[in-house]
Amino acid sequence: MAKILLEVITPDRLLVREEVDMVVAVATEGEFGVLPGHAALLTLLEIGEARYKKDGHIEYMAIAGGIAEVFKDRMTILTEAAELGREIDIDRAKKAAERALERLRKKEGVDIARADAALRRAVTRIKVAEKAKGA
Ligand code: ATP
Repeated sequence: MAKILLEVITPDRLLVREEVDMVVAVATEGEFGVLPGHAALLTLLEIGEARYKKDGHIEYMAIAGGIAEVFKDRMTILTEAAELGREIDIDRAKKAAERALERLRKKEGVDIARADAALRRAVTRIKVAEKAKGA
């Protein structure tokens, strides 16, 4: 059966390089799925959950925004940070969420966009880690 070669690349590492059956990620317009034979695509990614299916198993990832390119059964995700669900430290993400919420509550002298992005990264990590536990 046809596969997609998925690569998830951060400045530090190649998180994923796998032949997979399906990928789902979050673009600015919402969630989208990629199956083998998908049309060429270049899109911005939101901070959010991504997942891929391989041999009937679903692997969950937290993606901190970035770019996705699909071309000829190859999908590349370039992102500042990405983690597999099972490697996420939930306590660290919870603390990051609390810090971001605290900043957002203060309002004055706070970079709202930055705090909001930190909150969304943390919430995504918590959600993805919980899903990976149950997977
Ligand atoms: P924190 O304030 O906890 O560092 P952050 O959102 O500022 O969170 P990032 O700048 O997005 O962190 O990521 C820095 C590095 O730490 C990246 O390599 C990322 O994959 C990793 N990372 C961040 N949070 C976690 C986590 N909860 N579990 C595992 N790795 C994490």
